[in-house]
Formats: sequence, structure tokens, C-alpha cells
Amino acid sequence: MALLPQNSIIFSWSLKPKSTFTALLGSSLNTKKSISPRRLSSPSSLFSIRCYSVLSQRPLRYAVLGAGYAGLSVVWHLLQHSPKEAPLFIDIYDEIGIGGGASGMSGGLLHPYSPKVKLLWKGEECWKESLNLLRIAENAKFSQSSNVEKQDHGQNENNFMVRRRGILRPALSSKNMDTMINNAQDFLASCRIETINRESAHNLVPSLFVPLDVAFHMPEAVNVHSQYYLEALYTACQNAAKDLSTSGVAHKELCLHKKSIDGLLELAGEYDAVIICLGARAAFLPELSGRLPLRTCRGVIARLRIDDHVREDYPDHGPSILADAWLAIQGPRDLHVGATWEWKSRNYSRAVSEGEATKALEELLQKASTVYPGIKKWSVRGLSAGLRAMPPLTPQGSLPLLGCVDELVGCKEAGKLWLFTGLGSRGLLYHGWLGKVIAQAVLSGIEGFIPLELTSWKHNVEL
Ligand SMILES: Cc1cc2nc3c(=O)[nH]c(=O)nc-3n(C[C@H](O)[C@H](O)[C@H](O)COP(=O)(O)OP(=O)(O)OC[C@H]3O[C@@H](n4cnc5c(N)ncnc54)[C@H](O)[C@@H]3O)c2cc1C
Repeated sequence: MALLPQNSIIFSWSLKPKSTFTALLGSSLNTKKSISPRRLSSPSSLFSIRCYSVLSQRPLRYAVLGAGYAGLSVVWHLLQHSPKEAPLFIDIYDEIGIGGGASGMSGGLLHPYSPKVKLLWKGEECWKESLNLLRIAENAKFSQSSNVEKQDHGQNENNFMVRRRGILRPALSSKNMDTMINNAQDFLASCRIETINRESAHNLVPSLFVPLDVAFHMPEAVNVHSQYYLEALYTACQNAAKDLSTSGVAHKELCLHKKSIDGLLELAGEYDAVIICLGARAAFLPELSGRLPLRTCRGVIARLRIDDHVREDYPDHGPSILADAWLAIQGPRDLHVGATWEWKSRNYSRAVSEGEATKALEELLQKASTVYPGIKKWSVRGLSAGLRAMPPLTPQGSLPLLGCVDELVGCKEAGKLWLFTGLGSRGLLYHGWLGKVIAQAVLSGIEGFIPLELTSWKHNVEL
């Protein structure tokens, strides 16, 4: 029996009959040409891997680079989908720590629709998996809420992790109105779009600007306190590793290293696989620099509060608002306004200089006051910024970049280096489902787990 010199993976289900195998892979398994000839392609190969692993009894070791939405979703799914009987070690590398990049400062708005309220590609799967991860994180936070409260440095006085008050998008221009009204008919039952008039919109947000008497209300859409969410998701991963270790037959361990990564190949030797979840900064790695079809885009967010002496506040049941600027409501007296778009920036610092702040505030407050004139009574409490990784536009929209990048990077071993980036401005929506998909691909060594639409970018990269 051939022994494969790659991922030592124990696949208990690989011993099942072929029909079960196919069912377990699920309909998302893409068996077309994206599986390179060197990759595993048949159940018999999986038999080989299983024997190799059992004989070697070597623990599985994975490195996840980046502790943002992408990285932590991958960690969670590696824990969930790795074989129970395999010892597992996951090292997470992030130079700042949990949520140190764009994820930790993001606006936290989550819904599965485009700006023209069209259901996005795989919107249903993505929406479902993201909600699932939010629930998992909420449960973890709940079980240690007193500790979390101690860590609260007053940034979130409303103390929410997921605010379930919906999102409202008024139609501001007649240009795309028919398209939007049409798109809005095709909504998910779990995230409805109600097309409402000015009066109904004003029942939700009294002074909202609704010039065309049409607004789209997504009552189930949410906004998330990103930093809290990521910290809680990390706790959930730690708990899962502990639970799996005590209830199963094998030890599972996570370790977070606050360390900067300057290159991939050196790291690859130490692990069964390395998953690159560095957001926009994946493109800054020497091995990937100039090779990814990504554009970077810096965005600034302003945090506002309404002073205690002002009687008026934001309605407690009021939704967040999407318009030329968005308003992510944090509570009756706190909101965030975003975001600016500075293309081609390489500045990933969260800090905003005085000059950048002046320019950003002028733009954000002007846009926000158009849709919500009441903003003029609020005062700015601070600003922060992050760098988005914007992928190219495809017929299915702007889709993240996933896939095995061994050949691209010049790694001789197959199935070692995997990329998960290009989440654009929809990291919250994409991270759940795609984290699951890439974890399954990594564990099996089969790139075909990843939909072709997400790996096809590799065809245009010169090796
Ligand atoms: C202003 C703004 C507002 C946004 N609002 C929303 C929103 O409302 N809803 C939404 O869904 N999305 C939003 N986004 C997009 C979202 O933030 C991103 O899609 C998402 O954060 C990408 O996640 P990631 O894990 O791929 O990258 P990141 O969150 O950037 O994570 C990468 C991690 O890698 C670490 N890292 C990078 N390089 C290295 C290195 N060399 N060595 C070690 N560690 C390293 C960083 O510290 C970071 O923690 C917004 C983005 C911005 C900028």
C-alpha cells in the first residue's frame, strides 16, 4: 500500500463504502479540474492516508496565520472536522493578537445582500454559518460573562456582542430603484427584506431621510461588536479543544503566538499544513507579493456618542442604517459611522493621524447627516482604521480568494500551504461557511472541497 508523503490525516470515514464517502463529502465537493493530479482524488487514496497516520501515530499539526474572522473560523472548523482519534495541535500566529487586523475594528454589519439588496452568491450558506458561529461565540461568552465584564474598558458600554435590531436601507436615488425593488423580492426566509414606505421607516427611525418613499428593512440582520465576538470565538475554540480532549481519545491543543510572520516556506516544514489568513497583508508576504489579484483599501470609522444633556437618543428598537455611509448602532447613545475608501493604501495601522481624521470626518458626517440628520447632535469620541483585502469582480460578484498555494509559492510538498483571504467588506458574512470549506479541504488534502468560483483566480496567476 502506498504511503503518501503529505498530511498525516486519520479519516475514520474513509473506511466507509463509496456511496457513504460521496455523501459525506457533500454536494459542495468540486471534483473538476481544480484538483491537481498530485492531489488526492479517490477514496482509495484516503485509505492510504489513514494507514500512514495510524502507523506513524504522529499528531496533526496546523499553523493558522492571523486571528481575525478568517483565522478563527478556520481554527473552529479544524477542531470540529478533524478526526476525534487524532491528536491535534493548532498554532495561531498573529503579531497583534485576537482581532488585531481589520476584523477587530470592522463595522460589524451582517446580512447576505448586496448594496442593491440582491442575495449574494451562496448567501444562504454564508448567512447560516455566520449565525452559527455567532451563537457558538455567544454561548462561550455567556459561560464566562463575569470575566468578559472585567475586560471591558468602557468601549462598549451597551455590553452587547450581537445586536439583533435589523438593518434599514432607504432608497436614495431613483436610478436603481426598479432593480432594487425587484431584487428585494428574492429574500431568504431567515433574513427577510420588507419593502416599506416612509411612514413605516419613520416608525423605526423617526428622522430618517426617505426621499423616494421606499426603504428596505431587513429585520433579522444584525450588527456585531467585532472584538467581543472574536474574543468569544477564541474562547469557544479553547473550550472545544478542552472538551474534545477530555471526552475523546486524543489530545487537542491550541496555542496563540504573538509573533510576526515574515515568510512561509520556513514555517511549512514544521506543520502538516499552514493556512494563511492574514487579510490584506497576505499580499505583503514575500512569497505572495505581487501575485495575488487583490487590491487593498483603507477605511476609517468614527465612533460617536450623544451627550447626556441631550434628551433625544436613538430608539432602542431602532435598526442600523445602510446608505452612502452606514450607521452601526451600538445602543441608544452610541453609534459608529463608516466607512471611507482609500484605494491602494498599504497602511494597516489602526491609528488615524490628525490629517486623515479631519478628511474622514468631513466625508463621514456629511454622508451620515444626509440620511440621519439627527447625527449633528452627536459628538465624535474617536476614530479607527483598517485595511480591506478587495478581490476582483467575477460574474458571481467579488468573491474571496481560497485555495492551495504550494505551486504558487514554490513549496515542493503538496497540500502544505493554503490561502484564505480577499474577504473584502463582507468578512462577517463569508468567514463562517468559507472557514468550514477550507478546513475540510486542508484536512482531506482535497482542494475540490472548495467551490471552483473561489479557486479560479489561480488560473490567471503566472507560476
Ligand atoms: C473600515 C472597515 C469597515 C468594515 N465593516 C465591515 C462590516 O460592517 N461587515 C463586514 O462583514 N465586514 C466589514 N469589513 C471587512 C472586514 O473587516 C474584513 O473583511 C475582515 O476583517 C477580513 O478578515 P481577515 O481575517 O481576512 O483579516 P484580518 O482581520 O485583517 O486579520 C488578519 C490578521 O493577521 C494578522 N497579521 C497580518 N499580517 C501578519 C504577519 N505578517 N504576521 C503575523 N500576523 C499578521 C493581523 O494582526 C490580523 O489580526 C470592514 C472593513 C473595514 C476596513
